[in-house]
Amino acid sequence: SDNRIAVLIPGKIHPRVLERLGGHFDVIAADRSESPQIDAGTAARVRGIAVAGGFNAAWIDAFPNIEVIANFGVGYDGIDVSHAASKGIVVTNTPDVLNDEVADTAIALLLNTLRLFPQAESWLREGRWANEGPFPLSPFSLKGRRVGIYGLGRIGQEIAKRLEPFKVKIGYHTRTPRKELAYDYYPSLKAMAEAVDTLISIVPKTAETHKVIDAEILSALGPQGVFINVGRGWSVDDDALIAALGNGTLGAAGLDVFYDEPNVPAGYLSLPNVSLLPHVASASVPTRNAMADLVADNLIEWFGKGAALTPVPETPVKPKG
Ligand code: NDP
Repeated sequence: SDNRIAVLIPGKIHPRVLERLGGHFDVIAADRSESPQIDAGTAARVRGIAVAGGFNAAWIDAFPNIEVIANFGVGYDGIDVSHAASKGIVVTNTPDVLNDEVADTAIALLLNTLRLFPQAESWLREGRWANEGPFPLSPFSLKGRRVGIYGLGRIGQEIAKRLEPFKVKIGYHTRTPRKELAYDYYPSLKAMAEAVDTLISIVPKTAETHKVIDAEILSALGPQGVFINVGRGWSVDDDALIAALGNGTLGAAGLDVFYDEPNVPAGYLSLPNVSLLPHVASASVPTRNAMADLVADNLIEWFGKGAALTPVPETPVKPKG
């Protein structure tokens, strides 16, 4: 230990966060166990947290002098923000620096789901092209689709922009219409699902977005319908989606996120009409470096200049006292 401000890192985080913070703070690593295992003296010294994953109320309460929790990721559903807010602790996330990467992934996953490119590559690698002939035609195409984007925030808008050159029809559902944007607004998810054949989910995990992609929404998309999820698995009723994909109520799905990661329901693995990715939407070296820098810079700015760079809207922006 030293005289520098102590910042705690529970569990694993991108190595660049450790590297950057080490130049400014006394960095303390903690095991990511059920409950914090740390002596009271050390706990009292900790004033900042850098975390990828989660930081619940019990963890927050174990550190009486924390001022800031810097989350690695734009989605901060793993942090108990209302508890942090009630204690005057600021929570920061990593918005914007990953918008392009996540939007690119959404488009790639959409094309993979429609055109079966991963399966086609396996066909080649397994020697089936030479032995059995051409890969079967994909039943679906992006051409002429009507796409509905559920969530048109920082990332949703980048997805919409990327869809424009594909000449598809673009609509969206959010609680607040974005009148300055030229896309079709739907006042409910249901109304949008009835009007489109392709649904892309990029909403955060909140009480309101729990299992909203259900049997009713999926059947509204229909047998030619395609569902893409790059938001949170929390928003999907997996039983309903697996059933709809299996019995043809829905045409296909592409999923980067799951309800209980890294556990993926077995029902998906046996379906031919679902494209699965292990939560890699932002997972490139340059984008993860930018996210790591933003985590470190939030802590450096907070303790150096008294204001975080990217506080979440629910928590205070100024230091206590
Ligand atoms: P933003 O906060 O910029 O956008 C969120 C959008 O969702 C807004 O348009 C908001 O509009 C809408 N929204 C929120 N709640 C509801 C609701 N109940 N009903 C309808 N629309 C709603 O977030 P980002 O675009 O930066 O990120 C979105 C989410 O994507 C993150 O929270 C994260 O969970 C996920 N994500 C996943 C990644 C991955 O690796 N797969 C990577 C990065 C992000 P309004 O408030 O008007 O309703």
